Formats: sequence, structure tokens, C-alpha cells
Amino acid sequence: MPLESDAAYHCPSCFEQNYVAVDPSGGRRQRFVEDCPVCCRPIAFDVGFDAEGDPVVFSAEAE
Ligand SMILES: [Zn+2]
Repeated sequence: MPLESDAAYHCPSCFEQNYVAVDPSGGRRQRFVEDCPVCCRPIAFDVGFDAEGDPVVFSAEAE
């Protein structure tokens, strides 16, 4: 069960669906690189929160 601050994304390398934690204190737009937990390839995340305050993944691209 994903946490409230987790947002779903599909890995650009292996296409598995995963969840990434979006830091509520990190602002409405956050960019960082994290390895895919499935295929271990780095993913460049662009995440944040929408108008309702829900975590969203704007983009998840192969680094
Ligand atoms: Zn992957």
C-alpha cells in the first residue's frame, strides 16, 4: 500500500510500475535522480504536488 506522499510512475527502462516518495517539505516542483528498484537504472524524476496537494510525477525519464 503506497503512502500518501507516494506517486506512481512507470520506469522508462523496464516499464514496471513503481512508486516514488515525494517529500512534502520539498516544494511543489522537485527534480532528482533515483535508481529504479526493479532494473536499477537511474531515472531522472520531475515530481511535485498538484493543486489538490496530491503527489504527482510530471516526468520520469531515463538518465
Ligand atoms: Zn526499471
